[in-house]
Amino acid sequence: MSGALLSVQDLHVNYGRVEALHGVSLEVGAGQIVSVIGPNGAGKTTLLSALAGVLPSRGAARYQGEPLSALSVEERVRRGLVLVPEKRELFGSMTVADNLLLGSYSRRSRSRVKADLDEVYQRFPRLLERRGQLAGTLSGGEQQMLAIGRALMTSPKLLMLDEPSLGLAPIIVREIFNIVESLRGSGVTVLLVEQNARAALACSDHGYVLETGDVKLSGPAQALAADPAVTSAYLGGE
Ligand code: ATP
Repeated sequence: MSGALLSVQDLHVNYGRVEALHGVSLEVGAGQIVSVIGPNGAGKTTLLSALAGVLPSRGAARYQGEPLSALSVEERVRRGLVLVPEKRELFGSMTVADNLLLGSYSRRSRSRVKADLDEVYQRFPRLLERRGQLAGTLSGGEQQMLAIGRALMTSPKLLMLDEPSLGLAPIIVREIFNIVESLRGSGVTVLLVEQNARAALACSDHGYVLETGDVKLSGPAQALAADPAVTSAYLGGE
């Protein structure tokens, strides 16, 4: 698929002498939700970190048709390739509002920032209610919403979400996945990394199964969710 928003071919990442990704290839089409599922230690975080430019990698990755290797971390963000990290990396002793405004630090137009802030508050009424509260005092689900909201302040085109459901209660997990689906509805493409395979595949167009640094399976999300190899390993054998 040459028109993919993101196209990754034969990506290798090392931690010192240990190779964590052994030649991963994947594609993300504009307007899609693509999930990468797999167990602990499969290399999911490593993959997103490499695509965000915070870890060095080898291979060919193109974003909007351009080689990713030519783009700095900041340039990737400026062009809309934005990571919401697993640990959320919020500033706990700053307010919700200030955390959101930090997401827009590179933006020049004040009116644009205000419009984006209004949009985030519209999407997450709970953040509006708590805009003066310190981020460190939010619940886990609210912190995840804030991390996604902060990323939205950069006007992302391709949002990379690292385990957004991690550590959250089932009802909140559902809420987070509803939010992910609503992002696609508003034109944001999503690359989602998840251990919660069932919920991830349910909202995705396409999926990849990553195990010990290799893509073991891939296909339309519905087909993957029905594949016996996936159901027995990742969906509780149903
Ligand atoms: P998890 O869901 O536990 O975060 P993951 O699929 O995201 O798992 P990674 O965190 O990308 O997996 O880890 C992939 C492999 O790389 C693992 O074997 C891990 O031990 C190793 N690894 C990750 N970070 C480092 C590091 N900073 N130094 C050395 N090895 C690392």
